[in-house]
Parts: sequence; C-alpha cells; structure tokens
Amino acid sequence: MDLTRRIERAALVFLALSTASVFAQAAIPEWCRALPHPEYKTLQRVAISDPWFEVYKVAPAVFAIYEPHQFEETISYLILGDKRALLFDTGMGISDLRKVTAELTQLPIVVLNSHTHNDHVGDNWQFETIYGMNTDFTRKNARGSREDAQAELGPGQICGDLPKGFDPKAYATRPWKITTYIRDGDRIDLGGRSLEVIATPGHTPDAICLLDRANGLLFSGDTYYPATIWLYRPETDLDAYAASIHRLAALAPQIKMVLGEHNVPVASPSVLARLVTAFEAVRAGKIAPTPAAPGEVIYKVDEISFRMRAAESKH
Ligand SMILES: [Zn+2]
Repeated sequence: MDLTRRIERAALVFLALSTASVFAQAAIPEWCRALPHPEYKTLQRVAISDPWFEVYKVAPAVFAIYEPHQFEETISYLILGDKRALLFDTGMGISDLRKVTAELTQLPIVVLNSHTHNDHVGDNWQFETIYGMNTDFTRKNARGSREDAQAELGPGQICGDLPKGFDPKAYATRPWKITTYIRDGDRIDLGGRSLEVIATPGHTPDAICLLDRANGLLFSGDTYYPATIWLYRPETDLDAYAASIHRLAALAPQIKMVLGEHNVPVASPSVLARLVTAFEAVRAGKIAPTPAAPGEVIYKVDEISFRMRAAESKH
C-alpha cells in the first residue's frame, strides 16, 4: 500500500531501537501487539498447515485467507462453486498460497484480482488461469516488480516469524500472465454459483468488486475495507472513486455482507451508505485533515477514514 508510511515506521522503529534497552520489546511493532482484532473471535477458523496464513470460513463455501504476520494484513478469498473455484487475490507472495488453496479445495482455480497492487497479486505466478482487467496499469503490474515487495519487509512490517526457507533478499512480485480479459458486467460461472464483475475504478484504474447476488455477498477489494482506506497513490483517481462507491451503495439493499481485503473480512452493508456520506463530506471540505506523512493527510469521519494526498480532497 504505502511507501511513505513505511519510511515513517522505519524512522519510528529506528528511534525505538536506539532508545530501548530491551531489543525484544522494540522489535514488536505496535500494530502487531494489537492483534488479533476482536472481530475474529466470532469467525469460524479452518485448520491449515502453513502458520503464515489464517483461514476463516466467512460465508457458505467462502474462505477468507488472512496474512496477519505482515503489516498490510492482506485478505484473499477462495470462493467455491460446484465445478470450479475463484481465488479473489493471491496475497503477498511471502508464503505458498497455492498450497493453502490445495488444502481447501480440489476444484480447478481461476485467479482474479481485486486490483493489481503488489500485496494482492503475490502468488499469481503460481496459477495457470488468471483473469484480468484490460488496463495499462494491470499489464504493467503483470510484469512484476521488486521495489514495492522489498518495502513490505522493512522495519516494523513483520509480526512474528517469516516462513521457513523464505529469502528476504530475493523477495519480489513475480510476473504472471493474464489468460482472459474481463470487464464490467461480466458474469463468472463457477457451477451453481455466479459472480458478477463490477468495475470500481478509483483506488486503482483496474479496481473491481465481485457480487455474489444469490448469496448477498459483495467482495469489495480495496475500494472498501474496515480500516483507513488508502487513496493517495499516483494511480488513485478520487472522482472515479466517488462514482464507484455510489454504485456500491446502491447495491446495499441486496447485500448481506461486505468482504474487504485488509484487516478484517466481514462488514455490514450499512457501511456503504456511510462510506459515501463520509467521502462526500471530505470532498466538500467539511472535515479537518490530520497530517500523516509529508504530503499526505488523514480524514476521519466517525469509524471511516481515508488517507489522501494533501490539498487534493476538494472537487
Ligand atoms: Zn491496494
């Protein structure tokens, strides 16, 4: 998600390391001490062999695959039909997500990304069938990169142990091949389960959500998740984001659950209307920003917050 914030954290950790007498205390980042989030207590945990991941069954034949040991706390979703499964994002690529999916289903797997930031495409390379949006941003990211991946391992980023055999120096987002282009309105048939693609550009140009209409599930990617929503990268378009969240809010009456891609997997659909109201208040200049990193600010409206470029909030 965020290089500047990582640099900030690096500075804080450096400060802590230089002043703390006990190294072990300083080595545990604050975000990590706050885990687990209380919401996980009510979720049904599923046993798997790899301690890097935690898996929760969050809806009928839907698994949330959570990576709590890295600051992004990324969540990927494995959604099962009768004939095949869809993997909505492949996480950080730090441990072996393909092995986890093999423990959860024998069905053939189609990968689709909520968007192609590095923390959501890390294990794409391990899969043969990958659907993608037809954008330059998607194609550029499919070539892989090293810089964003390396930054994920910076000071304060890791909580607990990295997987055995993982080589931090070699860590990079490996390239992958898009096998099929998809677009807004496409329906993906998994056999007895249909997922609708909703293009929701804004966070990135290739951001999408998935609607499982029959089960009332909205997979919201990074367009909404229950933590500070990051809208400051150069590829973020605030006008597009405003239009996208309006579109999602209109779906709320048909939805039972919103499933985002960071921190906590389950939210109530009522949050979508509050998201729109909060974002409109920010853009109307009604909310005072709090400085974050240089050139970035945070706007907080009740439980919803946005991290944005400074002096860019208004219409
Ligand atoms: Zn993202």
